[in-house]
Amino acid sequence: MKKAIVGVAVFLLTAFPAFAREVPEQAGDYPEPGRSDMRVRVFVYEQKPERPGTATVESAVCSDPHVNDVVGVTGWKLPTGTWTYRLNPASAPAGIRTSLGDVASLGFGEWEAYQSAVDFARGADTSVKRQALDFQNVIAWGKTPGNTLGVTYTRYYTATHEVADVDTIMNSRVKWSWNQCTTDSYDAQAILTHELGHWMGLDDEYTASYVDNTMFGYGDRAETKKDTLEAGDVAGVQVIY
Ligand SMILES: [Zn+2]
Repeated sequence: MKKAIVGVAVFLLTAFPAFAREVPEQAGDYPEPGRSDMRVRVFVYEQKPERPGTATVESAVCSDPHVNDVVGVTGWKLPTGTWTYRLNPASAPAGIRTSLGDVASLGFGEWEAYQSAVDFARGADTSVKRQALDFQNVIAWGKTPGNTLGVTYTRYYTATHEVADVDTIMNSRVKWSWNQCTTDSYDAQAILTHELGHWMGLDDEYTASYVDNTMFGYGDRAETKKDTLEAGDVAGVQVIY
C-alpha cells in the first residue's frame, strides 16, 4: 500500500510539475513548479573540500593573481535595462549588516563595469529569507544545505532565455567577514560577487586553471580575490551582452 502511494506521488510529480511545490536545494536545472514557461537553475556554491586527498587545488590567497581562461555561459541573460535587487540586512551576520549595502553595490558595480546592457538598482529592503518566484531578486542570509556558502536560484523564461527572478541565499551558519581576508571566515563581497556572476548568466568553472577566476566553483576562507573580475570572467560576460 505504502509503495503504491509513493508510486502515485512520483508519477504525479513527474507528469505534473505543478504538484512539486519545492525547488530542490541541489545543483541542477528544474521545471518551475506550476509554470510551464519557466525553468529554475540552482547553483550551489561549495566550500573548497578540506579533507586530505579531496583538495585538488589551492585557492585561498589574499592576493589576486590574474588569469585569462574564459568562463562558460548558461544560456540566459538579464533583460536590457535596470534590474532591481532587494537586500535583507536584518538577516545578515552582525559584522556585515550595516555594510551590506556597500558590499552589494561593490559586487554589482564590478559586473556593471564591463557591459552596458544592464545596470542595477537597490530597491526597498525586504524581510524575505527564502528563495521564491516573487520577482523580488533577493539577497539574504538563511538556511542553505550542509557545506555550502550560498545558493543562487535563477528563474528564466524558456522562450526568451531572459531572467524572470533571481535570489541568492548566503549560509547563515558560516562565519563571514568583509575585507579582512582571515583564515577563519569567508569574505561576503567575494562570495557575493561570484553569485552575481550567475545572475549575469555565467556558469561555474571547476578545473584548476580557473582557480583565480571569480567564477571558480569553490569558495575558500582568506580569499578576497573574487571581489574583482579576471579577464576570463569579463570575456564570458561580454559573450552574453
Ligand atoms: Zn557558483
